[in-house]
Amino acid sequence: MKVVHTIEELRDQLRGQNRTSFVPTMGNLHEGHLALMKLAHQHGDPVVASIFVNRLQFGPNEDFDKYPRTLQDDIDKLQKQNHVYVLFAPNERELYPEPQNYRVSPPHDLGDILEGEFRPGFFVGVTTVVLKLFSCVQPKVAVFGKKDYQQLMIVRNMCRQFALPTEVVPHETVRNGDGLALSSRNRYLSEPERKEAPRLYRLLNEVKDRIRAGEHDSVRVEHDAQRELAAAGWKVDYVSVRRQRDLKAPERAEVEAGEPLVVLAAAKLGPTRLIDNLEI
Ligand code: AMP
Repeated sequence: MKVVHTIEELRDQLRGQNRTSFVPTMGNLHEGHLALMKLAHQHGDPVVASIFVNRLQFGPNEDFDKYPRTLQDDIDKLQKQNHVYVLFAPNERELYPEPQNYRVSPPHDLGDILEGEFRPGFFVGVTTVVLKLFSCVQPKVAVFGKKDYQQLMIVRNMCRQFALPTEVVPHETVRNGDGLALSSRNRYLSEPERKEAPRLYRLLNEVKDRIRAGEHDSVRVEHDAQRELAAAGWKVDYVSVRRQRDLKAPERAEVEAGEPLVVLAAAKLGPTRLIDNLEI
């Protein structure tokens, strides 16, 4: 595996390739990320991974400075796995050359709801960096995790809107045995918090089971789940049942008619904010 830090070196490595598949990450790689690399390898060749902690997607009170940076460890993991041909770890100054930068804004009805409501500017940061990275790598395929369900949807939408030649391929959420979705932020959890954390996924399953069992008042189900999380000491941002196709809240009649839904949640356990979702 080649590790490159500049766009020129990246281009040199990829000259003449037209089946590149790409996995963008912020590093601190875990088994979830590695599963994405594996899927990328099944969809194209060569596989490019990137590691870049994107300042633009962090709010002023978020963990940009504290975000775990473990480049050498990440390189070792990728080398051992042997699916990635080039690791691109760009310099911030090259990716964001001007202080006043161009930005990509997702439409409000996708970018300012759910995660976008609680993390203003987050999706502008995500789409801007993803477009920049796509422009550097020019991938045929890019793999994104369903763990970040709204992000996956927004990136897909951006590709369609800008007629980008990149196919976005989703990967299922990779979980620990107790259900907790793997995340770089799990390392912030104390031991008791780590024991408590799987409650989030259990509750998403309860929401799914109740709706499947014929409970069509999705707002009531959301409220019950929020109450249960709060009672267990979580600070809840949202637990929300939405339509899979556009992330809008479903009408009762749509729930009854079996509209494909997804329940999405974000909540803080101590200082650590966790997100998860489950398709219904
Ligand atoms: P991150 O480095 O956390 O920004 O994530 C990079 C990519 O890995 C994104 O497409 C995420 O959705 C994906 N990802 C992170 N955690 C998981 C997980 N537990 N299962 C599947 N995909 C994941």
